[in-house]
Amino acid sequence: MATLNYDYKIDVIIDKIKKIDATNVILQFPEGLKSDAVSVSNTIQKELPDVNIIIDADPCFGACDLADIKVNKHIDLVVHFAHTPLPIRTDCPVLFIEAHSTADVEAPIIDALSKLDDDVKTVGLVTTTQHIHKIDEMIKTIRDRGYDVKLDNGQGTGKGQVLGCNFTSIKNLDVDVVIYVGSGDFHALGVKLFTNKKVVVADPFIGKSRDIEEFADKIIRVRFARITKAGDAKSFGIIMSSKKGQLRFDLALKLKEMIRQQGYEAQILNMDYISPDLLLPYNLDAFVMTACPRIAIDDSAMYKKPVLTPQELEIVLGLRDWDDYMMDEIIIHDEQL
Ligand code: SF4
Repeated sequence: MATLNYDYKIDVIIDKIKKIDATNVILQFPEGLKSDAVSVSNTIQKELPDVNIIIDADPCFGACDLADIKVNKHIDLVVHFAHTPLPIRTDCPVLFIEAHSTADVEAPIIDALSKLDDDVKTVGLVTTTQHIHKIDEMIKTIRDRGYDVKLDNGQGTGKGQVLGCNFTSIKNLDVDVVIYVGSGDFHALGVKLFTNKKVVVADPFIGKSRDIEEFADKIIRVRFARITKAGDAKSFGIIMSSKKGQLRFDLALKLKEMIRQQGYEAQILNMDYISPDLLLPYNLDAFVMTACPRIAIDDSAMYKKPVLTPQELEIVLGLRDWDDYMMDEIIIHDEQL
């Protein structure tokens, strides 16, 4: 079944429910796909009228945020859409449905290639889970136009795949330029900051490409403004996530110690859903995010007080040079969870 631009693989879900004889099933959609939830639920329900289908209506931003810890013993299966699994132990069976996009990738890549300088010979290629099933088509499109294409697996990611918190697939590529196939700017920004190469976004949803340089410059200026403002802080809140895939307990403890050693106050705040309103009661001057690395960057304008990444905190405390600015990552290893 295809609803809107995504393939929800209803047959795979129904087979899994039958195979494990599940009675109670919870469906977990990321924010961008929640509008399809009722349609997907109804379709499954029609095929399996005796199964209880429940939609998880809480926010969900990644495979780091599985519904299995919220459900009680009555739930037999979590169906988690649009993300690839992370090496996280789960409390009940989880079926990952990647919900691949059907959008064309060829036209935006051809548009991106048309913008490259004549001396470009080698192209690095990365994309997200939404488009990863078309990676061979992307490689062919680039190779057919005379370029050498390089990809890497990274740690915990597929060939040519990046997550918003994991850019390991792109760090060691020796290439002239990187093409990022996907929408939005955040992943492309990460690729830019980790490679220092020219990065072109080939956006399948608009069928065109665009440069990331101007956006990257703007974000860097904003980050340095936040770092400068945090330089006046005397007290810091270290935000620790209770979501399994975002929990960095040891890092939170390490940052607390680091802040105190520099003579400032530090408190650790444990949170599940993180929002500006929930931080208002705390009389602290700045916050450090050990949960999802995207929050400090993407949601920066929503917070009145500076919200820093751990690496930005090091700059504030004089333990890292401005020239050594880097984005935060959460690389989950099998042995961690
Ligand atoms: S931590 Fe953030 S970037 Fe990483 S998978 Fe979770 S939501 Fe995505």
